[in-house]
Amino acid sequence: FAKQSGRCCYKFYQDSMNAKAAARLQLEQDLRRALKSDEIVPFYQPQICAQSGRIVGVEALVRWLPAKGGIIPPDEFIPIAEETGLINELGRLVLERGCYQAKQWFDEGNPVRMAINVSAHQFRQLDFTQVVADVLQQCGLAPELLELELTESVIMSDAEENIARLIELKALGVSLAVDDFGTGYSSLSYLKRFPIDILKIDRSFMCDVNSAPDDLAIVEAILALAESLKLGVIAEGIEYGSQIAILKNTNQLLLQGYLFSRPVAAEYISPLLNQDFNHLMPAL
Ligand code: C2E
Ligand code: MG
Ligand code: MG
Ligand code: MG
Repeated sequence: FAKQSGRCCYKFYQDSMNAKAAARLQLEQDLRRALKSDEIVPFYQPQICAQSGRIVGVEALVRWLPAKGGIIPPDEFIPIAEETGLINELGRLVLERGCYQAKQWFDEGNPVRMAINVSAHQFRQLDFTQVVADVLQQCGLAPELLELELTESVIMSDAEENIARLIELKALGVSLAVDDFGTGYSSLSYLKRFPIDILKIDRSFMCDVNSAPDDLAIVEAILALAESLKLGVIAEGIEYGSQIAILKNTNQLLLQGYLFSRPVAAEYISPLLNQDFNHLMPAL
């Protein structure tokens, strides 16, 4: 009996593995097709200057809008895109769309810096710097209006090789931000060796910053670090005014989160560009 049920369990395991593999293959095929149609689009989330209360930048956050309706969030397809290499095509699409959009807003009198997430796979492509240069030129976007977001793990994956890549990118005139700062690599020494401009404080430190003394300590340490290294800071995941109150009047502090806006389609950003968000912020 034991033997029989063992075989049964194994069969069950095998069937569920097959089902999983089939589902992944289906997802990959759907994504491949979606990239050829207009189903993969960037949404944009405002980044507000704490001093002026104005939008000074946006982060492009990719969405899958299937023809049958609904919205698929990036966590459900970025991992597959990374495994299959489709991330290069996806990343280039978001970079191009984002830069065209930033140029359009610039032409309308609103210089807004466009932040683009760069995956490890993309960053490792030998021609990545050239791709960025080409896209900037095609769009006619000033490099100062492009920011590339890299995570610590991407930056540190091959430190010596990456430093050359980062210097190359910096030479284009774009700015470089460390995304999810504090959650990845533990060494801080790269901050002084690498040409980094901005630290993005991870949402996980911000969400309980008002009630968790440990999180507050980490956020304060990051602010102090940024100040002494003369780096800009973007605080992610701002949902309440009280989270802003604890951030000191840091030089160049930018704020990003649902309090101001969720990531939305480009047409919803335009009317926000002339808006003053000061009423949402407690006096710093
Ligand atoms: P990320 O780059 O750290 O982006 C920030 C995430 O936090 C976004 O999730 C955003 O919607 C969410 N967020 C912003 N403000 C708040 C808030 O106040 N509260 C809460 N709870 N969440 C907030 P999203 O759009 O689901 O993106 C998830 C991740 O997917 C991104 O994390 C990024 O790592 C990746 N991703 C998104 N777009 C791209 C892309 O074009 N290329 C690559 N390589 N990765 C991307
Ligand atoms: Mg990001
Ligand atoms: Mg982040
Ligand atoms: Mg993230």
